Amino acid sequence: MSPSALAACAADPARSRGRRHPEEPPALRSEFQRDRDRIVHSAAFRRLEYKTQVFVNHEGDLFRTRLTHTLEVAQIARSVARSLGLNEDLCETVSLAHDLGHTPFGHAGQDALNECMKPHGGFEHNLQSLRVVDELEDKYARFRGLNLCFETREGILKHCSLANARQLGEVGRRFIERTQPSLEAQIANAADEIAYNNHDIDDGLRAGLLDIEQLRQVPLFARHHDAARGRWPQMNPKQERHETIRAIINTLVLDLVAHSQVRIAAAGVDSLEAVRAQAAPLIGFGEGVESENRKLKGFLRDNLYLHHRVYRMMTKARRVMRDLFDTLYADPRLMPPQFYADAQLRESHHGAAGRARTVADYIAGMTDRYALDEHERLFDPRRLK
Ligand code: MG
Repeated sequence: MSPSALAACAADPARSRGRRHPEEPPALRSEFQRDRDRIVHSAAFRRLEYKTQVFVNHEGDLFRTRLTHTLEVAQIARSVARSLGLNEDLCETVSLAHDLGHTPFGHAGQDALNECMKPHGGFEHNLQSLRVVDELEDKYARFRGLNLCFETREGILKHCSLANARQLGEVGRRFIERTQPSLEAQIANAADEIAYNNHDIDDGLRAGLLDIEQLRQVPLFARHHDAARGRWPQMNPKQERHETIRAIINTLVLDLVAHSQVRIAAAGVDSLEAVRAQAAPLIGFGEGVESENRKLKGFLRDNLYLHHRVYRMMTKARRVMRDLFDTLYADPRLMPPQFYADAQLRESHHGAAGRARTVADYIAGMTDRYALDEHERLFDPRRLK
């Protein structure tokens, strides 16, 4: 999209707040496109293939991984951005990076690592995504991290505690001043939610953890399920599932675009700075769909994320995380040599919290299968390497 086609409130790469280490502008790409390419070429991005949100990676090849989830988020976000005349490249970039800091084993892994890190400043996955792109990726000769634009980093840091925000300088300021990120970052956030609610219905049904009758308690599902069945009475169960879910996604996207458009116009924002100064996000659903979407989320929490089978697996995952953390923290020499060196260096600067942070970085970077394998290597005496 040429810059002239963009709305005045869109993020403009030519007017970026820049990178932490100044670089020559790219020859053929915009600054945001360069960020996107750096993310796609990162090791953390490739590891998304073997990380999960709800299901553990080895449970089946049919389920979403964080990588396919990320691609769905990017695709929804780009459609929304294009419809609103906003910057599609920045939306895609933020979407592709949004889960880079996630631990193995989804929410359970993240909670467990946060618990382990409680005495040492805690663990927040959004902040970890920023650490990945700012520090942990290490392959450029001139700087640590990927040296991304401010707008990309601002979008990646969706949430942050006040204590951490105060340490982060410019990118943490909005959590202290309660201002907003770009509309593109807000879209990536909404697209994340649309993507996971819907693919979790799909994966939940395929895994046999949910059934259609039960899902019909959710008005948003029942309405689209009735419409699809009315239109194609001969559908097989697979088609029924897919036609219902795609219609829900469509409804959510159209509602998001329509209501965001009205809010953007009403706020009269004519620049990214004006967007940032708003007291509340401008990207969002209308009231009706917002409330239906909340019911869907509540349903998924009670029936899928707390399902007996998921709960048992997640309990095991939490124990694996705790074992790994305690063992590696007690003896950092058990980590690969570069992490051991890093733990020593950080400990010399920040004491125990420094050592713990390196252990958390090492564990957070693991995929599901690597974490399980590492656990076996450390605890099973029959494993020799
Ligand atoms: Mg996500």
